[in-house]
Amino acid sequence: MSRLLFQGVPGVADNSTSFRAQSTIYGSPSTVSEADTLHEECGVVAIHHHPHAAHQAYLALYALQHRGQESAGIATADGHHLANIKGMGLVSEIFTDDVLAKLPGSMAIGHTRYSTTGDSALLNAQPIRVDSTKGLIAIAHNGNLVNLGNLRARLERDGAYFQTTSDSEIIVQLIAHSSAPSLVDAIAESLSQVEGAFSIVMMTRDRIFAARDPRGFRPLSMGRMKNPSGGADTIVFASESCAFDLLRAEFIRDVLPGELVMVSQDGVTSRQYASGVPQSSCVFEHVYFARPDSRIFGRWVQESRDQMGRQLARESGVDADVVVPVPDSGVTAALGYAEQAGLPFRLGLIRNHYVGRTFIEPEQRVRDFGVRLKLNPVHNLLAGRRVILIDDSIIRGTTSRKIVRMVRGAGATEVHLRISCPPTISPCFYGVDTPSKRDLIAANQSIEEIRRYIEADSLAYLSLEGLLSCVQDEKETGYCTACYTGNYPTQWVDVEDILPATASV
Ligand code: SF4
Repeated sequence: MSRLLFQGVPGVADNSTSFRAQSTIYGSPSTVSEADTLHEECGVVAIHHHPHAAHQAYLALYALQHRGQESAGIATADGHHLANIKGMGLVSEIFTDDVLAKLPGSMAIGHTRYSTTGDSALLNAQPIRVDSTKGLIAIAHNGNLVNLGNLRARLERDGAYFQTTSDSEIIVQLIAHSSAPSLVDAIAESLSQVEGAFSIVMMTRDRIFAARDPRGFRPLSMGRMKNPSGGADTIVFASESCAFDLLRAEFIRDVLPGELVMVSQDGVTSRQYASGVPQSSCVFEHVYFARPDSRIFGRWVQESRDQMGRQLARESGVDADVVVPVPDSGVTAALGYAEQAGLPFRLGLIRNHYVGRTFIEPEQRVRDFGVRLKLNPVHNLLAGRRVILIDDSIIRGTTSRKIVRMVRGAGATEVHLRISCPPTISPCFYGVDTPSKRDLIAANQSIEEIRRYIEADSLAYLSLEGLLSCVQDEKETGYCTACYTGNYPTQWVDVEDILPATASV
């Protein structure tokens, strides 16, 4: 069994203090990846009024595993107690039947996270459970706050004692230090003080709260499971609607940007704690992160990706024999491209789904296998053919070069790489683990230079206008495109991270 952290679990000693003692918790919370892929930071879920709330949270987290594979946690409440268990690893590794049985109650929140290894990572894993002046609160957060420094210093001056380095705890400490008369007022007041991206679920002993930041960076949906015995329905929240399918819950709606929803035994209430801020939902959720069977920001992801592939074919068609996706996230865009171009779609690269997380790879030399461990070419589909490869991003360029070489090594006569979004030129500060600008190849090299580096016969990206045309609907959702434009929708960004390579030498 994974090493687990227990807080408030009936019959189990609380061991969070020993984790704190072993951890350097006041270091940087940053977990910037050395890898050549982008990582989402988190997925969150919440369940209100279900006899097996912990198990339902487990299933929902299972469906959100793609949003973070390094740690997971579930907190439950039964009206009196608030128990919390979290551990490092996959949801299914941590939450065995034995562990789930230790989490009683009809309410639950859960979290799955991308992070680094070690005990400090476990301490920072979520949900975070804090015994505050407003009572016990557990919080699970997807996103990233950007005005951390000021708020943290101010709270510490006011006597706040932080258990973790996680920015999510700042929200709880703001709630604890609020002089607002009610808990819901304190939450609304606290949320309006933080800047950045947050889709959060919170739980007290008897209530669930769900909220999105005023710009709506990260998705968060609300659903319902009918109560077969005719009592109150189960209300569920999840980062993506694909989690509802596993629960057999029906999608009700998205939590709105700037909205705080409260669910108690009296029903569902909602308030708009912030308004008048332009929406800037993360367009990269549609490009890469969210599952194609999810509906986020009012649109099916599958539909967006199909459109991206079609638009890419219209913008940068090339004579070829076959369209091949880089699996898994390139598949839907490649289907759209192939259909638009009138070319055959072939699964010429096969992904090994059982490759573990990088930190459990035993030795560096195994890590160097990298792409070959994850992908393998289907020689008879590629040999002697002119191949259009469809992928969804080029970060440092090293992975793309290995894939191009792999396809050519399998006998392709030409390799044309097409990317279903614009060049990634700037880091994300809103919950996506991106390298700094100096490590982003497109921030420092022209498209022709990148083409030469990755050894492709041709290279083209989807235009920004083309991308935005593929994610629009009648509601005219506003999108963040900062990683493609460098235009950040918030003021607070880390200047060091947005310096190009030439400025850093
Ligand atoms: S910078 Fe890019 S990845 Fe980050 S929120 Fe904006 S669009 Fe999404």
